[in-house]
Amino acid sequence: MLQRVHDGKTRTILVAGGAGFVGSHLCDALLLRGDRVICVDSFLTGSRTNVRPLENHPRFRLIEEDVCRLSDIDEPVHQIYNLACAASPPFYQADPVHTMMTCVTGTGNLLALAERQKASFLLASTSEVYGDPEEHPQREDYRGNVSCTGPRACYDEGKRAAEALCFDMLRAGRADTRVVRIFNTYGPRMQPNDGRIISNLLVQALSGDPLTIYGSGEQTRSFCFVTDLVEGLTALMDVDPNPGVPVNLGNPGEFTINELATMIRAIVPSSSKIVYRPLPQDDPLRRRPDIARAQDLLGWEPKVPLSQGLQKTVDYFASILAPPDLCAAP
Ligand code: NAD
Ligand code: UDP
Repeated sequence: MLQRVHDGKTRTILVAGGAGFVGSHLCDALLLRGDRVICVDSFLTGSRTNVRPLENHPRFRLIEEDVCRLSDIDEPVHQIYNLACAASPPFYQADPVHTMMTCVTGTGNLLALAERQKASFLLASTSEVYGDPEEHPQREDYRGNVSCTGPRACYDEGKRAAEALCFDMLRAGRADTRVVRIFNTYGPRMQPNDGRIISNLLVQALSGDPLTIYGSGEQTRSFCFVTDLVEGLTALMDVDPNPGVPVNLGNPGEFTINELATMIRAIVPSSSKIVYRPLPQDDPLRRRPDIARAQDLLGWEPKVPLSQGLQKTVDYFASILAPPDLCAAP
């Protein structure tokens, strides 16, 4: 295992996409350990509510900007996390050209900043780089089965291009770049209308609406709780030396969508029925990370079982979906 380096001094860390679901948890964790955080976000899919509790924090700064237009930052930064990109299929497909430009131009702008500032750089890439995988579970050396012409290409191929930029900058000695490939992650602060499976099913169950399952429901996914993911992100950013290879971060527990729906119906007492809808084009059949590399290099593995993480996420959605208490004192 490589050494984790943090000398205890306050560092300034830029989190692009810091007002999003994962980004806001990362901002929390960095502030908690004493770092200064600059959050850059366009609020495309993120929310001000996610960072509102941080707005008056003395070590937090918010810059509303699209990373495609970001040219410079008026203060030194030591590390840059690039999480800026819509992650949910309905959102990243709503403006696919912008998604691709966010991955390529946005990552390019942030890499140029990292080069100028000699800041370490971490890209939030995705298991989608494996496409509809022919190898199972997915190891980092699997090159993937991705369509470059389908509706998911703006995201899958955008992230693949962003990874290529990172490794070119690293090989050229121009920036200290690190790449994580994130598998489905869930938890509090997902948007209720995010469109991904866990938020959809939980919101539907809590609202008494039918649970929508696309296709037969026999496709599989592996679900990682957000606090586990954030620990993996900071572990890779802080490890020394830079391993120079992409690292899968995800929970290897694998569930069919039907199994997930059954678990959710056991946790949320609900009269919701299940309805089956057509499977979206290019929807991957199976997904499970091989996390041996993260275990070896970082000593990282997820700790939160799906049942426990789902309960925390149910509690969150229940709190934001609850009707306001009209009798409550002002
Ligand atoms: P999210 O949509 O909640 O967060 C993305 C954030 O980036 C949002 O705050 C959004 O407003 C911001 N953003 C998008 N485009 C931008 C742009 N051009 N300029 C500035 N800000 C922009 O998604 P998330 O689930 O928090 O995902 C965070 C990152 O992790 C993404 O890069 C995503 O690709 C990656 N990832 C997430 C998952 C997952 O399951 N959550 C899986 C794989 C990869
Ligand atoms: N899915 C589903 N019902 C929904 C939303 C998604 O059955 O309401 C399916 C989707 O087709 C996919 C799986 O659940 O097979 C995971 O979808 P998600 O969008 O969460 O993630 P991704 O496909 O990007 O892994």
